Amino acid sequence: DHYLQRIEQYNGQLNAYLAVDAESARRGAEAADQARQSGEAGPLTGVPIAHKDIFCTTTMPTTCGSRMLENFVSPYNATVVDKLKAAGVVTLGKANMDEFAMGSSNENSYYGPVANPWQDDRVPGGSSGGSAAIVAARLASAATGTDTGGSIRQPAAYCGITGIKPTYGRVSRYGMIAFASSLDQAGPMAQTAEDCALLLQAMAGHDVRDSTCSQDAVPDFSADLNKDLKGLRIGIPEEYFAAGLDSEVGDRVNAALAELEGAGAILKRISLPNQKLCIPSYYVIAPAEASSNLSRFDGVRFGHRCENPQDIDDLYTRSRGEGFGAEVKRRILMGAYALSAGYYDAYYKKAQQVRQLVSDDFTRAFAEVDVIAGPTTPTPAFARGSKSDNPVAMYLNDLFTVSANLSGLPAISAPCGFVEGLPVGLQLCAPANQEARLLNVAHRYQ
Ligand code: GLN
Repeated sequence: DHYLQRIEQYNGQLNAYLAVDAESARRGAEAADQARQSGEAGPLTGVPIAHKDIFCTTTMPTTCGSRMLENFVSPYNATVVDKLKAAGVVTLGKANMDEFAMGSSNENSYYGPVANPWQDDRVPGGSSGGSAAIVAARLASAATGTDTGGSIRQPAAYCGITGIKPTYGRVSRYGMIAFASSLDQAGPMAQTAEDCALLLQAMAGHDVRDSTCSQDAVPDFSADLNKDLKGLRIGIPEEYFAAGLDSEVGDRVNAALAELEGAGAILKRISLPNQKLCIPSYYVIAPAEASSNLSRFDGVRFGHRCENPQDIDDLYTRSRGEGFGAEVKRRILMGAYALSAGYYDAYYKKAQQVRQLVSDDFTRAFAEVDVIAGPTTPTPAFARGSKSDNPVAMYLNDLFTVSANLSGLPAISAPCGFVEGLPVGLQLCAPANQEARLLNVAHRYQ
């Protein structure tokens, strides 16, 4: 009731929820009370959360921020939704997002932008901007997000919350609408690393319905939360503290690193020489995979269908023309171009080779350090409208986040101070399957 009341009071101004199901939330809360009384409650029993509207749900629409799926109700739940439900959470509603998770500001949602709860002329980040704003404004205790190139970490940084992108394959992608399948990964967004550990515990694990879902054992993500940081080697890439980084953001991150050093960690200067190739490679691979994934939205099987189609081509072109927004069309065009005969080797294949170089940088670095630290974003949350007609400026905002997706590694963003009243995020990245290490460092820091 507390959260439903806050939603009533603040969602009009934030536009963070696209759908709220108060009745089933109340039923869920009653079931949680009963579970508690009969001694069957787990750590997440009765915890009110929101799901990013990219996760399929049978009880509420799943729009993915698009007109294409305006009235779409899925016949099944995403694995993430089912797993969290089984852990006892209460779902309050679905969170606004950039259309098909393409964006860094939430301005690409067909359902309107989301305001940053810290300052309402600022963006909350994207694409999981609704999820981040919901958690920051206390319109739920936690939320789910997805991260293809930074969409959990960047909005977490902009809204002053904690978000972790797990190792690729740690969490099932079944029922999570695909953007770029080799990069997409779901994860939790919450106030603290401790909360993220509990949520990730419920979300992670093998799923026969997703062939890329890892079969590796799921550790206890909370086990190392309080582990001493003495001797932990933290790598600081010189390329992260260079041109493009706002100096005050750099100051906050350096202050956080000094605190970690004070707690016994050893700071080591390192280099990730191919860092400058991350954005170019990501913005070929992600659109290429998107152009393929989004071919399923054809006006026949899913979502929007144009009025009175004259023939099959007219049905396809008008349904897609009307259903998709400008950024989604831009990605489909770029991706189809990069994949087309004659250009494939020059663009897509080249980008995949560069992706390997980026990954090799991390392999080399992790021979010397346990985690890599830096800023999550080059600046604090920017003003709404300031980048919306400049796609390249928008893409450059992902400077520090896409490398973890290109290499499949886990990475977390934790709040580390403010610049002029706007939150700043500290990003930590670890070798594959070492989420517990990231949660440990973030928890000790918090
Ligand atoms: N901002 C990036 C993009 O637009 C990342 C989005 C994401 O992680 N879903 O592709």
